[in-house]
Amino acid sequence: MTTVNEYLASVRADIVKRDPNQPEFLEAIDNFFKTLTPVLEAHPEYVKANIVDRLIEPERVIQFRVPWVDDDGKVQVNRGFRVQFSAAIGPYKGGLRFHPTVNLSIVKFLGFEQIFKNSLTGLPIGGGKGGSDFDPKGKSDNEVMRFTQSFMTELQKYIGPDLDVPAGDIGVGAREIGYLYGQYRRLNGYQAGVLTGKGLTFGGSLARTEATGFGLLYYTDALLKAQDMAIKGKKIKISGSGNVAIYAIQKATALGATVVTASDSNGFVYDPNGIDYRIVKQIKEVERGRIKEYADRVETATYYEGSVWDFDTDYDIALPCATQNEIDGPKAERLAKNGAAVVACGANMPCTPEAVAVFKKQRVILGPAKAANAGGVAVSALEMSQNSERLAWTFEEVDNRLKDIMENIFAESAAAAEEYDLGTDYLAAANIAGFTKVADAMMAQGII
Ligand code: GLU
Repeated sequence: MTTVNEYLASVRADIVKRDPNQPEFLEAIDNFFKTLTPVLEAHPEYVKANIVDRLIEPERVIQFRVPWVDDDGKVQVNRGFRVQFSAAIGPYKGGLRFHPTVNLSIVKFLGFEQIFKNSLTGLPIGGGKGGSDFDPKGKSDNEVMRFTQSFMTELQKYIGPDLDVPAGDIGVGAREIGYLYGQYRRLNGYQAGVLTGKGLTFGGSLARTEATGFGLLYYTDALLKAQDMAIKGKKIKISGSGNVAIYAIQKATALGATVVTASDSNGFVYDPNGIDYRIVKQIKEVERGRIKEYADRVETATYYEGSVWDFDTDYDIALPCATQNEIDGPKAERLAKNGAAVVACGANMPCTPEAVAVFKKQRVILGPAKAANAGGVAVSALEMSQNSERLAWTFEEVDNRLKDIMENIFAESAAAAEEYDLGTDYLAAANIAGFTKVADAMMAQGII
């Protein structure tokens, strides 16, 4: 009889054979498979029904050409993607990323993670992800609009409020969602529920903008409380300066912590007195500038080139909010040496497998992305609810629900950790809790 580990090894071998050039997707799979053994041993019916083999194959992959004309009249061509990974528990749901690094491997890793993240929210949403290798950085508003309209002209054939509901991610914020929605509406008429993260004047939800950052802190707070720790008075290192980082800084500060860093792909600012999220927001979202400019405006802040994770200072909590694989093994060692006891992920898969192994060895507690950053997609699902009932909830109502959802995600992870004797391995616990729900839905629906 094949053991569970042999089964997982054979599924992995198939992935490598089919898609030999998808390192990020394989990394996501490896991180996931490492934690799946106990649940598959407890549920031989999942193995018999070949749930894992079915889950790692997206239900649908769409790749398309996106031609557009730049401000110099030159014709440009980018590549567009939408991976509809699993609709077992609801319509495909997940963001669009516009960044030069986007390729099928990245979109598949994000889509795979999204399945379990969305499952953890407890809301009826399946997993999907999309994007393009288009780089909005340095482009004019008109260029962004022309590209986005071309992208949506193709994408609109495959999405809908009960089918697939995209939203933002890196490089896709309020401006891009506005243009995407406008083009969708021009082609199909009014359908508020086809995208989330919309502006407040056309069906957006209050607190959606803040949701991922706020949710990250609600989750971190719950995790700390479970270890008899508190967020108040803690020193926090944050990476990134985009949507997630900005509102994580705001909430962390409101909860009595001091956030000492913010970064972008060139460098980072350090201010022992605490970073002011309003200045970061002004620089990054209004002026579309670089984080370097923060140090020109705030006397106590210093700018450094390079990774914030290579900078030594003592701190208690790390909140990586930039991008995948930003913390590798050596950076993780440094983080532990600097005294950080908890890492909670605002970005998707910010820690390499080597980093995760270091955290385990050094007893640094990890709040995994699919749990810690689920607040964004959770409020997206609340936006879908409001669109369906044609009502708009107050900020407090949405924020309270978000807090409940994040506390619940931590509680469910803690329960899975208890059931499978995982200690504080909340990564394994979140994988198991997210997976079980999807697996049960698939079991009930037959071989499809
Ligand atoms: N891109 C976000 C994520 O990684 C949000 C997705 C959404 O709101 O659909 O979960």
